[in-house]
Amino acid sequence: MNNTNVMELDIGPSSLDYIKHNRNSCGAWTMQEKVTEKGKTSSRYVRLGCKKWVCPKCGAKKVKRLRHAIIKTAVEKNMRRFLTLTLDPKSCSPEESIYYIKKSWDKFRVYLKRKFGVSVSYIAITELQKSGYAHLHILVDRYIQQSWISANWQAVGGGKIVFITLVDIQRIAGYLSKYLTKELLLGGYKPNQRRYTTSRDIVLFVKKTTGKWKLIKKPIETLFKSRSSRISETSCDETGVLQMFEMELLQPTNSFIWKEPPIESGQLMLL
Ligand SMILES: [Zn+2]
Repeated sequence: MNNTNVMELDIGPSSLDYIKHNRNSCGAWTMQEKVTEKGKTSSRYVRLGCKKWVCPKCGAKKVKRLRHAIIKTAVEKNMRRFLTLTLDPKSCSPEESIYYIKKSWDKFRVYLKRKFGVSVSYIAITELQKSGYAHLHILVDRYIQQSWISANWQAVGGGKIVFITLVDIQRIAGYLSKYLTKELLLGGYKPNQRRYTTSRDIVLFVKKTTGKWKLIKKPIETLFKSRSSRISETSCDETGVLQMFEMELLQPTNSFIWKEPPIESGQLMLL
């Protein structure tokens, strides 16, 4: 058995939520949980995606999820100012630009805090231009004068071109859906590069911490085949794709032992 295929998870929603949320994901992985109902203990396996940005199916789902979370937060927090910060190509190479713009943004935020006396709430999205240079698109919670932005962005090493746009609150969802395209959110990033950052007061995705799960890095179909003789329940979607199955366990609850020992702890976010 390959132990590297398993990690332990500690997350909230029931596996039935996962069935709903993981529809149309690639099904590369499976989630396993122990369920006890009417005195019987079963192992439940739920279809999951690999959750990688580069996966054609999971990447598209992640884009939708991120877009939805940004719009929801923007509306809730009345973040209607959309700021664009650019770089002067003379300041760094395209390869360095993601790092460079992040450093400049860190310094710029210190200036912002000094100006307003409080930390400004923001959601910043990095865009990689065709030229390879990074831009920042930032939702902020307040009006900032364009001339101030321009002078101070250049003072921290940024380029001359900056915009700030006020979006009508009724139009924010439409504006952001148009702006936060698949191309923008999927394009050109290296695996360790972050697509977005937020101020500390903003939580785009809430992680819940109840319920014990295991993530098995194998498709549910593989597990289904190897356990077929003991399966007590199955659930497929309308196209017949297996979403979940249950297998009754012979061991009593208190001596239940996972078959695949955990080697790594981690949290998995709902897609
Ligand atoms: Zn995937």
